[in-house]
Amino acid sequence: MNKLISLLAKSKNTIVFTGAGVSTLSGIRDFRGVGGFYSANWDGMEVEDILSLDFFMSDPTLFYRWAREFLYTLEQYTPSVVHTVLATLEQEGLIRGVYTQNIDMLHQRAGSTHVWEIHGSPAIHHCLGCGAQFFYTEIAPQVLKGEVPFCSICNGVIKPDVVFYGEQLKAKLLDQAYQDMARADLVLVLGSSLTVQPAASLPMATFYHGGKIVIVNSQETPLDKYAKLRFYDLKEVFSALEIHLHNGVISHTLQDGD
Ligand SMILES: [Zn+2]
Repeated sequence: MNKLISLLAKSKNTIVFTGAGVSTLSGIRDFRGVGGFYSANWDGMEVEDILSLDFFMSDPTLFYRWAREFLYTLEQYTPSVVHTVLATLEQEGLIRGVYTQNIDMLHQRAGSTHVWEIHGSPAIHHCLGCGAQFFYTEIAPQVLKGEVPFCSICNGVIKPDVVFYGEQLKAKLLDQAYQDMARADLVLVLGSSLTVQPAASLPMATFYHGGKIVIVNSQETPLDKYAKLRFYDLKEVFSALEIHLHNGVISHTLQDGD
């Protein structure tokens, strides 16, 4: 733990990368994990089908019926100690920001301001017909009533800005992510098994440019052998960090180091 604090305090440019494991602490089921949404049949459908762009284009009904139980009830979940400590670390200038694979907006709700969502976010929706923009707060009540949201301008189908299967990740954001990772001298990988791209290669950009990788994840990852420090229990690590932050230990170390 002291080694992690020392790394955080010495680093001039720390970037955080978060995955489903961070959301799991808030009670949100891991999409891809064992027993998660992706492995569960829903109405005879695999969730990978429900979340595919082709399927959505042909009939958005099932997606919205599925999403009603998850994507539009996010208010019931609260940020975990990981979310809140990351927000504090940002405020203290100890991390630059968070890249996340999660689409639950919990980093923002915890108070993080530099959050880059590589799988998109339901905060914004767009009409597939005319491109008009709608906000989560407008769409959620309709979906919760059991309706499929249609555009008030052209009657086109409205889709959340979440990256579906069959859709490309936003190239510009991905470029920015690689550049940020390459410039970082420390990347904290939290709750990601790093098995899908680009998650698997982003922290390596830091490593290849001389930076350090710290991984906190309950399962093994293919990047474990590159990690300077390796922890398994997110809650334990971040509860400890919270205490150190509260006692001013991390910022003191920072001052001593300067
Ligand atoms: Zn429209």
